Amino acid sequence: MPNTVPPLFTPEDLEKKVTEVAGTSLVDYGFHAGVDPRRPALVREFAGAGVASVKAFLTGHHTAPHFLRGPDALRDFFAHVEGTGLLALFHAECAEVFALLDGWRGEPDSWRDYERHRPRTAAIVAVSRLIDLCRDTGTPIHVLHVSTREEADLLTAAGAAGLPATFEVTGHHLTFTADDTAALGARIRLSPAIRERADQDRLWDAVRYGHARTVGSDHAPHEHADKLRPPAQAPPGLPGVQELLAALFTGLRLRDPGADPGELLRPVTRLLGAAPAALFGLGHRKGRIEVGLDADLVLFDAEPTWSLAEADIRSKCGWSAYQGRAFVGRVTTTLRRGEVVYQRTPETTVFGTPSGEWIRPRPAPHPTTSM
Ligand SMILES: [Zn+2]
Repeated sequence: MPNTVPPLFTPEDLEKKVTEVAGTSLVDYGFHAGVDPRRPALVREFAGAGVASVKAFLTGHHTAPHFLRGPDALRDFFAHVEGTGLLALFHAECAEVFALLDGWRGEPDSWRDYERHRPRTAAIVAVSRLIDLCRDTGTPIHVLHVSTREEADLLTAAGAAGLPATFEVTGHHLTFTADDTAALGARIRLSPAIRERADQDRLWDAVRYGHARTVGSDHAPHEHADKLRPPAQAPPGLPGVQELLAALFTGLRLRDPGADPGELLRPVTRLLGAAPAALFGLGHRKGRIEVGLDADLVLFDAEPTWSLAEADIRSKCGWSAYQGRAFVGRVTTTLRRGEVVYQRTPETTVFGTPSGEWIRPRPAPHPTTSM
């Protein structure tokens, strides 16, 4: 990723990451490449070189300083990706729109003003540019962490028109609204910002009706002390891996309390399993229960109501914006390639060995029809 330290801009960077991460993960994993805005042609070196996707930022901040500046740089990036077989991923907020509005109104000085100063306009303009380029070049795009109803509509319409354009929503945008900002402040400062209730309702529709291709964690485990700095200096982003499955299932149940829990788990397994595995070139090993594929399984009890306590948090950062929220349904056991790597009983929680492996992707054609 471009906003990890060090960033992943070349196949040599990838080799270093693979070595660095070996022996630290319970689950198998892959990597996204980043775009070095000073040397965007480097993305071509990733063709067939162990990543399926490359993420470009269209705006930046101090934990993500590497972004494509302006429409020309974006068009140039599309030209470099073309023909590589890599899937182009986007943090789609337009830096020029932020600069224009900040120049007029000034930088945010309180959390309450945060959404107003990182407005939806920048996301909508960015997505509109991306759809134009997707149409002009035929290059597949996957827009990450869609936060507004307008983006969801534009991208759903683009997919329906046959363009290779898909999108992700995150557990954070599905869980929190701008109303939570007063209580949670810096904890839910996110880029793109947490939006209004009507946006959240549209994102849930995108999940329930199959418009969104994937649901992601957008896991960004910043230190809590850093999050408490003044709004203009605090890093956006929050941890979200551990919370994702419970947050998604809980939201689906709240919206459809009479539904059979087994039926509600169908979109969950698609959005968190089959679809991302296919999109990111891991479908030959992951994402489905099938003879010949890896036995990566989660045993999920759909009934218990519980809340995340500080003692439960596994992320190194040690905090979660979801602390104290009520969840319905909980993972009891996780298997990776047939081996138990997580098991929880009322008395104890046991973890396996961190022998997860890097999986080399096999790029597959970008799926445009709904799954
Ligand atoms: Zn992003």
